[in-house]
Amino acid sequence: MIPLRAYAGVTVGVLGLGKSGLSAARALKAGGATVLCWDDGKAALETAAAEGLSIAELARLREAATLSLLIVSPGIPHHYPTPHPAVAAAWEVGVPVDNDVSLFFQAMADPEREGADEGAPKILCITGSNGKSTTTALTYHLLTEAGRHAQMGGNIGRGVLDLDNPGPGEVVVLELSSYQTELARALAPDIAVFLNLSPDHLDRHGGMGGYFCAKKRLFEMGGPERAIIGVDGPEGRFLANTVGPEAIQISNTQRLRGEGWSVFMNKNHLTEWRGGKQMAAIDLRVCPGLIGAHNHQNACAAYAAARAVGVAPRRLEAGLASFPGLAHRMERLGSANGITYVNDSKATNADAAEKALLSFERIRWIAGGQAKEGGIAPLAPLFDRISKAYLIGESAAAFAETLTGTAHEISGTLDAALASAQAEAVAGDTILLAPAAASWDQFTSFEARGDAFRALVAPLLEDSA
Ligand code: ADP
Repeated sequence: MIPLRAYAGVTVGVLGLGKSGLSAARALKAGGATVLCWDDGKAALETAAAEGLSIAELARLREAATLSLLIVSPGIPHHYPTPHPAVAAAWEVGVPVDNDVSLFFQAMADPEREGADEGAPKILCITGSNGKSTTTALTYHLLTEAGRHAQMGGNIGRGVLDLDNPGPGEVVVLELSSYQTELARALAPDIAVFLNLSPDHLDRHGGMGGYFCAKKRLFEMGGPERAIIGVDGPEGRFLANTVGPEAIQISNTQRLRGEGWSVFMNKNHLTEWRGGKQMAAIDLRVCPGLIGAHNHQNACAAYAAARAVGVAPRRLEAGLASFPGLAHRMERLGSANGITYVNDSKATNADAAEKALLSFERIRWIAGGQAKEGGIAPLAPLFDRISKAYLIGESAAAFAETLTGTAHEISGTLDAALASAQAEAVAGDTILLAPAAASWDQFTSFEARGDAFRALVAPLLEDSA
């Protein structure tokens, strides 16, 4: 647990009692703060109370006025469409609103932190619309395989305040979502990575402008020592020009052979270029965990991040080859009777699903759920890869309308979709779960949706074994 001494003796509110809220409450309490917690869900309140945390209705002005700070979980709206009543109450009585990521950075800057005089850790933060988790896990894998001491957390694995107090020279790799970067008052990474930007979470950010601003904050506030920026989209190019020559530019589509520092793809080879010279070229075709152009972008970013903390190119080659990939991201479950089953439940928006559709042909596509802005219309150029779509969840009818001219059925549920796809598939087909929609209408999370798919597919693979 990260020690949080700065709030000893004062009262801090914690709004939202999921993973990050609970870890913030525990770390604040351990540091000597009086912590008052709230969550709109009864079960979360019961869990918190059972571990001895105090509950208070923080939306009441009387309670809000006792606070010195309100810590808000990433899932809770604070700017848009309207602030949560507890956030509104805090503002009304002049209480600052912040989050756990900010507490982490404050703790790292605390000169009294244990081990602080021996040297600082390096904090490496990764953001973007798609590929954050893969890039974070891959960066961590590359660092540890190269013998560096590292920890990983944030939006993946452990909450930031659940991490161990990092030692000197240790690298802390954090995945940060736009919700987290938008709210954190302190945000001071040593190295920051921006992968890409595509429409997502617009209901929380009030449109693309708010969304980009939220991500961009990682590169402001003094700026990281080193920025690693994907320049295949206009926002990335804008950001790279804002940062200037200190940025390491990464690209899947451009051969960035300039005078600066860049990592780009050239004929399936990850290529590092610095000061007008090629420093390394690594064949990614021998890396089973990094299939598809989108993963090549993640590989370029993770490689650049490891280089930025001083790992030599030759030490990274083996790490790229041994990366196992992450569950629910283009996870190849297996093949039976010539039919391949792929779980890409994490494809919760059209941009991510596009990467999956681009990776296969003759696809039996299981899609749908809680639709994102724009639905699947941007995927129309790829519909000729789809043998048939099997639509599930809330968005099934809307997706069906977009698919006019492409074979499809409204299956309703995941098991019905798989049963139909299985009955109709022939050897050479890929049955792909890449929903292009959030899971919350039918599942508790994309993980639960992917686990359900894996469980439904398992007997099909066994039958043929
Ligand atoms: P995030 O944590 O940003 O949601 P993940 O690594 O979990 O990203 O991947 C989410 C989804 O996006 C997966 O379905 C994956 O296939 C797709 N994806 C991964 N990397 C990229 C990328 N660089 N660009 C676009 N899509 C990607």
